[in-house]
Amino acid sequence: MTVAGLRYRAVVSDLDGTVYRGNRALPGAVDALARLRTAGIRVLFVSNNPTRTAAAYAERLRHLGVPAQPADVLTSGGLVADWLVTEMPGARVLLVGEPSLHAELAGRGVDLVDSGHNADVVVVSFDRTFDYRKWREAFRALRSGARFVATNPDPTCPIADGEVPDCGGIIAALEATAGRQVEVVVGKPSSVMARAALDRLQSAAHETLVVGDRLETDVRLGARNGLDTALVLTGVTNHADIHTARDQPTFVIDSLATLPALVGLTN
Ligand SMILES: [Mg+2]
Repeated sequence: MTVAGLRYRAVVSDLDGTVYRGNRALPGAVDALARLRTAGIRVLFVSNNPTRTAAAYAERLRHLGVPAQPADVLTSGGLVADWLVTEMPGARVLLVGEPSLHAELAGRGVDLVDSGHNADVVVVSFDRTFDYRKWREAFRALRSGARFVATNPDPTCPIADGEVPDCGGIIAALEATAGRQVEVVVGKPSSVMARAALDRLQSAAHETLVVGDRLETDVRLGARNGLDTALVLTGVTNHADIHTARDQPTFVIDSLATLPALVGLTN
């Protein structure tokens, strides 16, 4: 059953390009999210960017006028910490990542090591401090049989004036050199992210809508995991991209302003 006859009882919302761009909320987003919540629809924000914590994202949302607590946000960094703690408790982890993710994992009790000679698992993430030493140690660990895990598959990350290389490129560098394929990528569009989001929302796939601006992550997250999707055109995707996409969105909307009507709210 949906909330009061509405089409969905919960929404999984992307952040960058969907709710805001840079330091500005996108048109209609703040009001639309408030209306959903007033109607009893739960909203969970998800990001593939592992360089900020859920608490940092919540603070940013509040600053833009969207009430949010850390529990309202799932990041690929938080998810990889959960994965390590539950799937490989006590494992020695070689992280290819930024200091913020290093601190987040250490804060969860993860045993972080510097050398590829004694790592049980390599965790690769968006890392603007990536260098030859990290590459070499991760390569050594993978050649020695360590497991190969990553936060997110994105080849690039949007910034104010274009894009920068993201985790997908570092995964590719390691795959090419170590001769191994990444085993687990926890961020969108994986089932790890979908399960964690539905768990957090206490909602079933068929009663939950994914909203986001990227076909390969947001729309695919829904398409692969049984959730409807609304592709929003305020970010990286335009109408022309949709025709050739492997995964088709359930809905296409110009901005989040349309979202309340889409879920069935009339005023
Ligand atoms: Mg986005």
